Amino acid sequence: MMEMKRVRDHLCSIEEGYVRCFFIEGERAALVIDGGVEAGLRERVNQQTKKPVTFLLTHSDPDHMAACDEFEKILLHPSEMARFMQKHPYSGELIAVQEGDQLDFEPYHFEIVLIPGHTPGSIALWEKSRRFLISGDSVTNATTFMFGEGRNLQAYLSSLRKLAAIADQLDVIYGSHGPVEVSSARIGELIELCEQVQRGQLQGVPAERFAGNIQEICWKSAAIYYPALSK
Ligand SMILES: [Zn+2]
Repeated sequence: MMEMKRVRDHLCSIEEGYVRCFFIEGERAALVIDGGVEAGLRERVNQQTKKPVTFLLTHSDPDHMAACDEFEKILLHPSEMARFMQKHPYSGELIAVQEGDQLDFEPYHFEIVLIPGHTPGSIALWEKSRRFLISGDSVTNATTFMFGEGRNLQAYLSSLRKLAAIADQLDVIYGSHGPVEVSSARIGELIELCEQVQRGQLQGVPAERFAGNIQEICWKSAAIYYPALSK
């Protein structure tokens, strides 16, 4: 069941259970961020606005892609394109967005921030003047998936450090999983977590929800799913 909820002026979340999409209705145009796990997103958005709609993917994991085919064009980072097409044959047009690109949806102006690690071409959208970031899966109140194809802990750590450098310019982060409003303090906690995992200093517990050798590793209020170290 898709539920549209107001997050702040001109910004709604579209809640689909354990994952959400975002919908920005600007003064002249609208932006949909991610495609969730349910079909019918385009129709839901069309009920809300008659303005032209742009569709963007923060990254190409299946829980963000269900409604992709409902949009004729998809904005995503080039490092994500091959992965996307592998997971989801798509006949529309892929449009590259790069680090530093500006997306204007008056009154919001987003800058694309490339934050690989969770996936090779994960991006965040930074609204500098209004001091918020839409972070995809990379910084959330839920446990970040860091096992399986495409994950890279070292790249993730570098991306978190890049976000830490702008953390004092952020009042709030909006994540795709867990409660929507994420404290910017989460960035520092994730950095501490990843650094300790790299040094082999932090133990996880087996994650019941996955078959196989995956553990949940927690530090303060941050958490990742990560392969258990082989003994
Ligand atoms: Zn996700």
